[in-house]
Amino acid sequence: MAGYAPVVEVCSTMSAYDRWRLGVERCVVVPTMGALHRGHASLMEAARRARPEWPIVVTVFVNPTQFSEAADFERYPKTLDADAALCRDAGAACVLAPSAAEVYPRGPLAGVPPLPAVATRPGLEDRFRPGHFAGVCQVVRRLFEMTRPHAAIFGEKDWQQLQVIRAMVRELDLGVEIVASPTVREADGLAMSSRNRFLTAEDRTHGLALSRALREASQERTVARAEERMAVVLSGLDVEYAVIRDAESLEAWREGRPGRALIAARVGSVRLIDNAAWHPRDA
Ligand code: AMP
Repeated sequence: MAGYAPVVEVCSTMSAYDRWRLGVERCVVVPTMGALHRGHASLMEAARRARPEWPIVVTVFVNPTQFSEAADFERYPKTLDADAALCRDAGAACVLAPSAAEVYPRGPLAGVPPLPAVATRPGLEDRFRPGHFAGVCQVVRRLFEMTRPHAAIFGEKDWQQLQVIRAMVRELDLGVEIVASPTVREADGLAMSSRNRFLTAEDRTHGLALSRALREASQERTVARAEERMAVVLSGLDVEYAVIRDAESLEAWREGRPGRALIAARVGSVRLIDNAAWHPRDA
C-alpha cells in the first residue's frame, strides 16, 4: 500500500491527537501494545476494507493494568519508530502513543468497568491471568473515550478478548462497531505475536505444537476426542488449557452451536495462546 498514506501523524499527547481529530468526522481505531508485526498490519487492512472512507488510528500503549506479571510488562518490546513506519506503510493516518499519565489521569485503579461474564469462564484466561481482562476492559474503554472511534478492529488471535470486548461494548452501549480479523501466522503455522521474539530456536519448534493441535482437533467429531487429541499433541509442553468451548459464550459447547478450540501453553519463557474454529460436522 505504499503511497496510500505517505505520512502518518504520530501523537504522543492528547492535545496533539485532539487537534488531528478535529478535522476528522469518523475514524476506525486499531488498539495495540506496539512491537507491531504483520498480524497488526492485517488489522489495518481489515479496517480499510470495513470502512474505506474512514481514517485509521492505531493506538500504541503497553497497558500496565492488564499484565499479571511485572517481568512480562518490563520486558515488553518498545519499538515506536518501527511501529510508526509499519502504520504508515499499512495506510494508517494517525498513531496515538500516549503516556500512562494521559491514559490514567486519576490513577490506574480508577475506572474499571464491570466485567462481562465471558471474561471469567472457568478454566480459561481468568484462571491463569487473574485481573487481565479487568485491565483490558479498562484500557479499551479509555482508549475509545480518548480516540472517539465509530469502529474498532480486534484480532481473532486473542479470541476470548474479542468476545469480552464485544460483550462490554454491548453491555455498556458504547456505540462502537467491533470488527474481527483473522489470525496471521508464520509460514510454519505459529501465530504471530510480539512475544515470539523471546522464543529460542528450540522453543519455536516446540511452539508449533499449538497450531498442530488445533489442526488435529478439527478432525475429531466429539469434544472429548478433540480435547484428548490436543492433549496428546501438546504433551511435551506446560499446558494451561486446551479445550473446546462455545465460540461466543465460551461455555461448554452444545450441538448445533459454533465451537472454538482454545489453547494456552508456556513454552520457554513465553506464554503462547492460539485458537481455531471447531465444527464437528466438518470432521
Ligand atoms: P497486541 O499488540 O498483541 O495487544 O495486539 C493488538 C491487536 O492485534 C489485538 O486485537 C490482537 O488480537 C491483534 N493481533 C495480535 N497478533 C495477531 C495475529 N497474529 N493475527 C491477527 N491479529 C493479531
